[in-house]
Amino acid sequence: MALDILDVAHDQVLARGVGLHQAQILEVLRLPDERVAQALEVAHEVRMRWCGPEVEVEGIVSLKTGGCPEDCHFCSQSGRFETSVRAVRLDIPSLVEAARQTAATGATEFCIVAAVRGPDERLMAQVREAVPAIHAEVEINVACSLGILSREQGEELRDLGVHRYNHNLETSRSFFGEVVTTHTWEERHQTLELVRELGMEVCCGGIIGLGESLEQRAELAAQLADVEPDEVPLNFLDPRPGTPFADLRAPDAADALRAVAAFRLAMPHTVLRYAGGRELTLGDLGTRQGMTGGINAVIVGNYLTTLGRSPQEDLALLADLRMPVKELSKTL
Ligand code: SF4
Repeated sequence: MALDILDVAHDQVLARGVGLHQAQILEVLRLPDERVAQALEVAHEVRMRWCGPEVEVEGIVSLKTGGCPEDCHFCSQSGRFETSVRAVRLDIPSLVEAARQTAATGATEFCIVAAVRGPDERLMAQVREAVPAIHAEVEINVACSLGILSREQGEELRDLGVHRYNHNLETSRSFFGEVVTTHTWEERHQTLELVRELGMEVCCGGIIGLGESLEQRAELAAQLADVEPDEVPLNFLDPRPGTPFADLRAPDAADALRAVAAFRLAMPHTVLRYAGGRELTLGDLGTRQGMTGGINAVIVGNYLTTLGRSPQEDLALLADLRMPVKELSKTL
């Protein structure tokens, strides 16, 4: 008789720290609604055992918003769609101030993001100025998310002291062509390999609810696990007006929670971060369920083009759950 997948997770993931493989992840994603709570319980035990109770808090800021030449169908920052996002660039003092405000929430991570295919010389010049300026004035780790990197750019970011680089796979390899046509999954993957090789931490996540099948969702989780990321930001589609995916429905809460549990069980050791879309999909109750179901990191404040919750709400939730915010000294 086939073993129950949550019993398997108990023996394999909780006891031995070995993540579920693709077919096993799919079984978790197919669990009926009445077993979601049980899946979250196992995922939470796994998180506590292999990562501990601390929660990593991060703020993100957009150095360049909108006007991106790429066509990721979920993204309101693409210059190819008629959306309400306008191209804006932030100056360095504003960036340092944003880092200061982020650090004041107790956050240990500050991620500089730009809506680009990859950095051009103008953007690299800004980053060259911004990272030392932040390091000089604020005690916080600086991460970057600037798209596809050349080796020289990657080396320069590492040498500037950027300790983590974000580049999401977004969706599974087999579904990627339905979501993006201006670059390939392989190009994204190559940047991740470069980041790892250069010694920066790898942050790589995806989006749930792009129209992918459950099989493809399991494939994404397995492909992320193969990358062995230090951090996985988990987004839920928030359909943006004007984008090709505007008419898709945001994933329902039970599906989102099944994904939280499944991704944790696929990657027992990673920082699994709630990123965009959780407010819409999960609301307060679901957010809390995820925090006790495998999530161990949050983005505080606003996202790049949508509003999040106030940092105080998230910090109050962590206090209520008795989950300490990870200290900077433990992230270095
Ligand atoms: S996801 Fe990134 S690369 Fe794709 S359109 Fe948006 S900003 Fe550009």
